[in-house]
Amino acid sequence: MSDLATLKVILEQPKRIVITTHHKPDGDAMGSSLGLYNYLAQKGHTVRVITPTDYPHFLQWLPNNPEVIIYTDQKAESQQLIEDAEIIFCLDFNWLSRINEMGELVREAKAVKVMIDHHLEPEGFDDFRHWNINACATAQLVYDFIVNVMNERELINKDVATCLYTGIMTDSGSFRFPTTTAEVHHIVADLIQSGAENWKIHQLVYDNSSENRLRFLGHCLLNRLEVFQEYNTAMISVTKEDLKQYAITTGDTEGIVNYALSINGIRLAALIIERPDRVKLSLRSTGDFPANEICKKYFDGGGHRNAAGGHSEKPLSEVVETFKNLLEDYKNLLLQ
Ligand code: 5GP
Ligand code: MN
Repeated sequence: MSDLATLKVILEQPKRIVITTHHKPDGDAMGSSLGLYNYLAQKGHTVRVITPTDYPHFLQWLPNNPEVIIYTDQKAESQQLIEDAEIIFCLDFNWLSRINEMGELVREAKAVKVMIDHHLEPEGFDDFRHWNINACATAQLVYDFIVNVMNERELINKDVATCLYTGIMTDSGSFRFPTTTAEVHHIVADLIQSGAENWKIHQLVYDNSSENRLRFLGHCLLNRLEVFQEYNTAMISVTKEDLKQYAITTGDTEGIVNYALSINGIRLAALIIERPDRVKLSLRSTGDFPANEICKKYFDGGGHRNAAGGHSEKPLSEVVETFKNLLEDYKNLLLQ
C-alpha cells in the first residue's frame, strides 16, 4: 500500500479519472462520489462517475448528477472509460464483488486504484486507501481527504458541501447513530458554512415519497410486520406481488427496516424482500448486537455491526424460516 502523499503528487497533473461506488447506491455512495467528482473537476481532471446499477430518484437532484453514467444502461461507454482511466476511485465499498460485473473490469484495469471506505475487512485490490471503520460515512472520509490529505479546504464549494452533507446525513441516520461524534458535527457545521442548505437537503431526501411508497409503508406495517417479543426481534417480509401492487422502484424500500427497529425493546430488525432476481435482506440492530455476523454466516453478506445486508437464491418462505430459526442461537445476546 502506497502513501497518500504519493497520490497527492499524482493528482497535481490533470488525469483521466473514474469514480465508482457500490451496487444500488445509497445516499452516502452517491454523496461521496459526486462530492469527490465536484472537487476533482475543479482541479482540471477529466472525471466520470460510473454506478454499477441505477439509484433512487431522491438522490437524482445532487449537483452534477447528469454526469453520472449507469453501467447497466451504457456498458460500452463505461468499459471504455474504465479501460482508459489513469485513476479509479472506489468509494463506499471494499470488495470488487460489490460492483457486480464491473468488478473484474476494475481489477484488470491499468489505472491506479484508490479506495475510500469505512467498511470492515477490505479485499485488498487497491493501491492507495483512505480507510477508517470509525467514520460515520464515506463522505466524512472524502471531506478528510480534501481537507487534510490534499490541504484544499478552499475547494469545498457549495456543490461539494451539498454532496458530502447528503452522504453524512443519510449514513449517520440523520446524525443519530453512535458514529456521529463531535468531530462529525464540526465537519457538518463547516459544510453548512460552505453552502450546504441543510433544511433543503433533508426535504429533498426525506420528504420526497410518492403516494404509492407511503401506502406501501402502511401495508408493510399493517400486514407484513411480525414481532417476536421472546427474541426482541421484528421482521418485515415483502413478496414480489407486494412490490408489483405498489409499483415499488429502486429506493422505495429504503428506511422501512428502521420502523421495525423503532418498536420499544426491539434489538434486531429485518426487512426481507423478494426481489425479481433474488431475496435481499437488510438487518439493523442496536448496541453491540452483530447484525453483520448473521448476514455473513447465513446470507452471503456483511456490513456494519448495526446495519448489514445479504441475499439468498432460496425462495422467500425458506429465507424467512432460516431467519426465524437462527434467533434461538442468538437468544442470550438479543435478551441482554
Ligand atoms: P442495506 O440494508 O441498506 O442494503 O445495507 C446496509 C449495509 O449492509 C451496507 O452499508 C453494506 O455495508 C452492507 N450490505 C448490504 N448488502 C450487502 C451484501 O450483499 N454484501 C455485503 N458484504 N454487505 C452488504
Ligand atoms: Mn457508507
